[in-house]
Amino acid sequence: MAELEDFRRTLVHGEAALKQIKRCEVPAFPRHYELWYTYSAGFDQKLNNAVNEILRSRGKVTLEETTYLYDTFLSPFRLGDKLDQFGSDFSDQIEAILDGIDESIEVSDEYSSTLSTLSTELGAAKNSETVKSVVHDLVKATAIVRASNKKMEERLKESQIQVAELKDNLEAARFENLTDELTGLGNRRLFEQTIARKVQASSGIGTTFCLIMIDIDHFKQFNDTWGHQTGDQVLRLVGMTIKNSITAVDIAARYGGEEFAVIMPDTSLDEAVMQADRIRAAIKDRKLLKRSTGEKLGNVTISAGVARFEQDDIAASLIERADAALYTAKRAGRNCVMSDKPDFDEDRMVS
Ligand code: GH3
Ligand code: MG
Ligand code: MG
Repeated sequence: MAELEDFRRTLVHGEAALKQIKRCEVPAFPRHYELWYTYSAGFDQKLNNAVNEILRSRGKVTLEETTYLYDTFLSPFRLGDKLDQFGSDFSDQIEAILDGIDESIEVSDEYSSTLSTLSTELGAAKNSETVKSVVHDLVKATAIVRASNKKMEERLKESQIQVAELKDNLEAARFENLTDELTGLGNRRLFEQTIARKVQASSGIGTTFCLIMIDIDHFKQFNDTWGHQTGDQVLRLVGMTIKNSITAVDIAARYGGEEFAVIMPDTSLDEAVMQADRIRAAIKDRKLLKRSTGEKLGNVTISAGVARFEQDDIAASLIERADAALYTAKRAGRNCVMSDKPDFDEDRMVS
């Protein structure tokens, strides 16, 4: 069972994290737990090097160091932390703009009262000397307003650049938030969003799309034989092979663990089954080598289930049918593709 395996593996890291928190006597805040969990799992070599250096020199990581390590190695990748930062940067920009507006209003008020004084003086002017002096004051006051306008303009330009940059960063964060870190494909969130959108767009208008669910065969055994890290490399390779086999309009995502999903817009069931089989064949043919030692790892295979969106489908019913087809493929001996249409399966099963 994948769940039991995950339970055992993650519990080891969880317990190690708590042990470190106790030893270092830092608050057991979730972010501190995350830091030590990441350390124990060895996800980030740079983090581990930094922690090991501190441990070597002092044996313990202080609260300050814990905060520094979190801010340096984990926080930049946390969407919540990023959003906090964006929020505060945006509000800094807005404050700067509002300050600028306040200043401009002040200058403009002063200008208008100067104008009114000068206008009275001009009305009462008896000689050219007084007129000259009024004009001189007028030019001076106008220069002040012009300088203030220029400053405001520069400030607005600066803010415009900053806000555009923040917008780009926000888009990048949104992209990361929808990307699976290990494989670079879409993540489960992207999958859920896309399928919901597709179901909505296709309902009632007669267009259709297909869903392929893919699961690596006997992957637990592979992990047990070659280790989890090599297993991760295989997940990357499978992800890359899927990505290289599909077109730009298809959307591939890591559905979870060793399962992937491909959404194929405007595709018939026949075409989707053929596409799934191309993916299956491409993966089967990859000769796997252990990166560190060059050892031959043999091959991995995948099984796939394909279902086509029907007008009365909701996302869950479509996923369920693709999953059921995948299960049929597993029972049929793995390394094959099945569709959810039984008559189709008998005639067209490909292996
Ligand atoms: P089947 O052919 O029936 O699919 O067999 P299986 O062994 O692939 O299926 P099972 O559901 O029993 O096990 C799935 C395995 O996938 C177990 C789990 O450790 C592994 N796995 C899940 N997520 C990851 C991951 O992120 N990295 C690695 N290396 N392995 C993972
Ligand atoms: Mg599975
Ligand atoms: Mg599997």
